[in-house]
Amino acid sequence: MGDRVVPLAEANLSIASSAVLYGLSVYTVFPVFVGEGNALHIFRLKEHAQRLLNSARIIGIDAAGWDANALLAAVRETVAANEVTGDVFARATIHVSELLPGVRSRGLETSLSLFLYEAAPILPKDGARLKTSVWRRVPDYAIPSRAKVNGAYVNSVLARQDAIDSGYDDCVFLDVTGHVCELSAANLFLVRDGVLITPSSSTDILEGISRKTLITLAEDMGLKVEERTIDLTELYIVDEAFACGTSAYLTPVLEIDKRIINGGKPGPVTESLRTKYQDLLHGKLAGYERFITKL
Ligand code: PMP
Repeated sequence: MGDRVVPLAEANLSIASSAVLYGLSVYTVFPVFVGEGNALHIFRLKEHAQRLLNSARIIGIDAAGWDANALLAAVRETVAANEVTGDVFARATIHVSELLPGVRSRGLETSLSLFLYEAAPILPKDGARLKTSVWRRVPDYAIPSRAKVNGAYVNSVLARQDAIDSGYDDCVFLDVTGHVCELSAANLFLVRDGVLITPSSSTDILEGISRKTLITLAEDMGLKVEERTIDLTELYIVDEAFACGTSAYLTPVLEIDKRIINGGKPGPVTESLRTKYQDLLHGKLAGYERFITKL
C-alpha cells in the first residue's frame, strides 16, 4: 500500500478520497501461480501492466512509474511477506487518493495497492448456467468497458445479481444494440461448426487477457477464430460455449436462458482448449515461455 507492506486490515483509503467517493480507481487481477519445480511465476505480467496503464490513460489519472517492473517488485515484496504455498491472484489497483477534489480526474494524487488472495474460481468448474441480463453493458460512450475502472463494476454487480436472483450462475451482457458482449467478469466464446467465435473488441467488452491468450492458443492448435458481432439468438444454437477470465479460468457454459448446450456437457473443443490452457497458465506448455515471469 503506497510503498510499504502492511497488514490487510491497515491497507485503507480515506472515506474522502475520490477512489471511495466516485469509484475512481483502475485495477487488474493477474495469476501468481505455481509452475515447474514448485516455483512461483506471474502469467502475462507485461499485458496486465499495460492494460492497467491504458485504463489510467482512458480515465485520465496519473499512473507514472507503475509499469511491469514496479508491479513485479510489489509482487515479490508481498509474496515475501506472506506464506504462499499454492496458486494466488494479485489485485493491483491505482487509486485516486486525493481528498475532496470534486468530480474530476487529471492532476490528482494517486497511490498503488496490491494484495494477494486465494485463486478460487468465480464460476462452477463443471460448467456455468447463464441468463441474459436485463441490464445492458455500459457503452463506450458512457463508461468505457475497455477501461477496468472500479466504478464501472456497479454495472456488473446489477447484472450478476439479477442472474443469481433468477437461479443462474452469471449473466450474459448485451450491448445497447442487443449484441452479445460478455459475462459480469469474464469473456465469452462460442463454437459453431468447429469455428471459435467471440464478440469483437469493439462490442463493449473488457479486452480480457485470457481471451487474447485463448485466441493465440486456438490458432496455434489450427482452429479458425472469428472476432465479430453476435446476435442473441446465435447463442441459442451454438455447438459449444465457454467463458474465460483470470478468475473464471476456462469454464464450460452448459445453458443460456433455458437452452441446454451440447446436452449439458462440455464439448470437445472446449475440453481440448481447457486442458492445454490449464498447462499454459502453470508454465507447463512448451512454446509459451514468453508469457511467464519468474519471481
Ligand atoms: N470482462 C470483465 C468485465 C472482467 O472483469 C474480466 C476480469 N478481469 C474479464 C472480462 C476477463 O479479463 P481477464 O482475462 O484479463 O481476466
